[in-house]
Amino acid sequence: MSVTKSAFAVKMWNDSSSRLQNIARRMSCISALFSMAAAVLNPGPHWITVAALSILYICYHLILSVKRVKPNLTELAASLVLCAGLTLAGAVYSNVLYHLLLIRMVLKVGHGRARRMLIAVAAVYLAAHAMALGSFTLPFLLEVAYNVIGFTVLAFTAVYMHSVMEIHYEHEGQIAELRRENARHYELAHTDELTGLLNHRAYLEKTADLQQYVLLIVDIDHFKKLNDTYGHLFGDQVLHTVGNIIKMSIRSKDMAFRYGGEEFALVLPGTTLDVGLRIAERLRYQVANCEFYHNQEQVGITISIGLSRKMPSAACQDAFREADSALYRAKRQGRNQCAVF
Ligand code: GH3
Ligand code: MG
Ligand code: MG
Repeated sequence: MSVTKSAFAVKMWNDSSSRLQNIARRMSCISALFSMAAAVLNPGPHWITVAALSILYICYHLILSVKRVKPNLTELAASLVLCAGLTLAGAVYSNVLYHLLLIRMVLKVGHGRARRMLIAVAAVYLAAHAMALGSFTLPFLLEVAYNVIGFTVLAFTAVYMHSVMEIHYEHEGQIAELRRENARHYELAHTDELTGLLNHRAYLEKTADLQQYVLLIVDIDHFKKLNDTYGHLFGDQVLHTVGNIIKMSIRSKDMAFRYGGEEFALVLPGTTLDVGLRIAERLRYQVANCEFYHNQEQVGITISIGLSRKMPSAACQDAFREADSALYRAKRQGRNQCAVF
């Protein structure tokens, strides 16, 4: 089994990652709204600029959100310009915007380019704060150090989340792949290759817990002679065609098996022997009237069918023995007929 990243894992990761990125985007819009509210309620010298940039930030991100745009370099550049503008204008919650922007970007790019994102965001943050303050006082340096540590922790957390979720979904993908492969193996192990019907193993498993059903054992008449006269390949074609006729003549709740060789078993749950006999007669008639050709020569094929009824108290083997004995009666009586036990 392949251990490469499955399509399932990639899809699940992309879905979850997009959801987190969207949450970060919405939170940054709320922060911008708070900055605007703070500027309006407690106007500083540049409160109009703060309000205008906040509205611009919110509108820009709402548009990206509605259009479901994934984080990209244009968004990074535009957001950094708006963040720097807000810092320079003295917006109170602008630091949060840098943090949320960094989370979004790192969730998108993952381990490979996380460091570059961290450097870009931290550099703009430092430059904007240095320009806004103009002097490097101790409280300023402490605040800067605090925020840069915060950026670093955030970037590493986002990278860690990226990796953990990727591994998680990769495992989920592998489990889904294993389940699909198990189902494929199960089907292979329970299907007869030549006819596409269920096989002997499936018969044993599926009838083991069935309480009540009508059983039909179908046997192709003089099949050995057919093989000897026309060859095994022709015999295989006959088996394939009879298998198809059986498939088409049963109801959805019935089950058809290639029991072995040129013998088929039909299990009809919730059916009376009368209905079973009608189904058997129809099947016998269809095979007898199907035109089989070997080269240009038409070959007549017939089947004999034995029927029995499995009661809840009886064993599966008893029902099979009874249907088999009815089949032998049909053979003894001249073949191309149905017999009920
Ligand atoms: P009866 O009418 O009494 O059922 O006679 P019969 O010849 O059909 O029965 P018999 O059991 O003597 O022969 C069955 C033959 O089916 C023998 C075997 O070679 C052949 N056979 C079993 N499986 C296959 C198969 O997958 N392909 C082909 N071509 N022949 C098969
Ligand atoms: Mg046979
Ligand atoms: Mg036979």
